[in-house]
Amino acid sequence: MRVVLITGASRGIGRATARSLGAQGWAVGINYARDRQAAEQTAREVEQAGGKALFVQADVADEPAVSAMFDAVAQAFGRLDALVNNAGIVAPSMPLADMDLARLKRVFDVNVLGAYLCAREAARRMATDRGGAGGAIVNVSSAASRLGSPNEYVDYAGSKGAVDTMTIGLAKELGARGVRVNAVRPGLIDTEIHASGGKPDRAAQLGAQTPAGRPGRADEVAAAIVWLLSDAASYVNGALLDVAGGR
Ligand code: NAD
Repeated sequence: MRVVLITGASRGIGRATARSLGAQGWAVGINYARDRQAAEQTAREVEQAGGKALFVQADVADEPAVSAMFDAVAQAFGRLDALVNNAGIVAPSMPLADMDLARLKRVFDVNVLGAYLCAREAARRMATDRGGAGGAIVNVSSAASRLGSPNEYVDYAGSKGAVDTMTIGLAKELGARGVRVNAVRPGLIDTEIHASGGKPDRAAQLGAQTPAGRPGRADEVAAAIVWLLSDAASYVNGALLDVAGGR
């Protein structure tokens, strides 16, 4: 049984990915920050789909908590084959001139530092836990990294730019040890994240203007993540895969 840890898996793209991997028989470590009941629901869905589930609390920006989370997954399932760096936040929409320091720090702490801390743990453990047998990391970036999100979320867009660059660097750093590192860059996906940005209808409204003519669904991003983790993508390393309906 292959083992994956998915950060921010209590809802949205993380939950959809957990469910899809569960259906393929994976053991899934379901990370959540605060919403335990939602994480329990994800765990039920993974088990109903045929996988094994463990839910584990950690703020991805908290170094000791991240380390303890990886320990918990190792204790429960005995190995780690894959990491999905999915946890991410957006703060209310505004121009940079109006953003305060606390907001800027938090967006970068969760989206960048959190992704780096989790990737670091995965890099350490995949090198030893599997006797050098390798593994795969998928980082959930955003189309915002190439669009910039002016007057809305330039902080968020920049944080995802860092995730893209980390993906390219780690693909080269870990590739020789058999660990592939790729990213997906979702466009406008219909999840609850848009409410945090103060624009709950953003995906529906702007999604209609994409070539696809609609927002994307969480399971459509999950399908790309699942493929990147699979052996079917064995020669794909360092890719930034847009899942954005042509946006
Ligand atoms: P979501 O808000 O439903 O999911 C985000 C998840 O991350 C939640 O489960 C949340 O609890 C968790 N999280 C937030 N802060 C955390 C922390 N400090 N520690 C641990 N978990 C934390 O939104 P989503 O759309 O499913 O987002 C998933 C990823 O996709 C994010 O990285 C987001 O930036 C990215 N993304 C989403 C869209 C979109 O349109 N929905 C577009 C591009 C990229």
